[in-house]
Amino acid sequence: MNDLASIRSAFPILDRKVGANRLVYLDNAATTQKPLKVLEASRHYYESLNANIHRGTHHLARAATDAFEAARGTVARHLNATSPEEIIFTSGTTAGINLAASSLALSGRITEGDVVLISALEHHSNIVPWQMLCQRTGAQLKVIPCHDDGTLDQSRFHQWLAEGRVRVMAITWISNAFGTVNPVGQMTQAARDAGALVLIDAAQAAPHIGIDVVGLGADLLVFSGHKLYAPTGIGVLWGRRDLLESLPPWQGGGEMIREVTFEHTTYNDPPFKFEAGTPNIEGAIALAAAVDFVNDIGLDAIHAHESLLMRAAESALTDIDGIRFFGPADRSGSLSFLVDGIHPYDLGTLMDQRGVAVRTGHHCCQPLMARFGISGTVRASFAVYNDTSDVEAIADAVARSVKMLR
Ligand code: PLP
Repeated sequence: MNDLASIRSAFPILDRKVGANRLVYLDNAATTQKPLKVLEASRHYYESLNANIHRGTHHLARAATDAFEAARGTVARHLNATSPEEIIFTSGTTAGINLAASSLALSGRITEGDVVLISALEHHSNIVPWQMLCQRTGAQLKVIPCHDDGTLDQSRFHQWLAEGRVRVMAITWISNAFGTVNPVGQMTQAARDAGALVLIDAAQAAPHIGIDVVGLGADLLVFSGHKLYAPTGIGVLWGRRDLLESLPPWQGGGEMIREVTFEHTTYNDPPFKFEAGTPNIEGAIALAAAVDFVNDIGLDAIHAHESLLMRAAESALTDIDGIRFFGPADRSGSLSFLVDGIHPYDLGTLMDQRGVAVRTGHHCCQPLMARFGISGTVRASFAVYNDTSDVEAIADAVARSVKMLR
């Protein structure tokens, strides 16, 4: 990437030290660092616009409402949504999936004996809400298994679709644990042809891939702002407008109503029907700034840059005696590995002493770890601001740490 120095200079946190070492931040799948443009958007909101939205008639309330709704428009255009009304602001991916699953459970669309399909690669956020839906409705949860290379078993997927009664398929686009990129376009098409509603967990896709919800053909899609250079506490649930219109609200309160009496309440239209209470106004505005930030660089360029670094890291680590990588060769975003005889936590702790921040553990994917008979991995995950010196740093930190631990 040509302008990497100026990109890096937009992230003040990269200048900080960890002990005597410079920070080598490779835990981007957990959360990304924030560029000045995003920090300034948050600050500008509180310095110049802060007011509650949608209700007030005064100047600030109107200005804050306009900025919040403009942010919705920015996100809608970014996802190629048909209209801003398809964008529901949530607190993150987890909240979006819980909203979708709870609303579907209340809708009466899912009944006893129906099937909800997820995959072996899912984050707990895309497992537990569906288990809860199954408990409420009597539906059955089925899990598309994965092969040893971390790709999904497509023949089992098609077999289960053919067996019928699949009402919902909820799958991740990119695995946060192994970096597997699922063929979500084809799987969505097949599941919808079989009559299922499709939710895509784009938490790990949004930072790396341009999303076109119309082209994808799914019904619902979720992601978190904080993995896309925006603050924590803001996320998006996109839904097809006709579906959102037909689904019941999940949470009740202010903003989501049209008229309330003690006897009866009528509900607002989407997206407001699903946004009870005061939303994260600053977060939405900062998310729009983050979307502008990635689009100014281009997600294709970001992805190409990260993939290059990840491949370089893989080849730099490959000579470590006993190293084992997880996920397929064309993985995206995250490089997961283990070194024989060394606990990932011990390795991560020693790497941290050299300023290298990686994630160790089960990555909120305990069933996937159980499938591979491991307790966790070491995961290095990449973002736009990483560079070749970060690759050298991780290779050096792993080599030295392994030597100390053996
Ligand atoms: N789904 C995937 C694939 C993730 O990687 C994550 C977070 O790591 C989540 C869901 C949950 O996201 P959040 O904690 O932002 O709600």
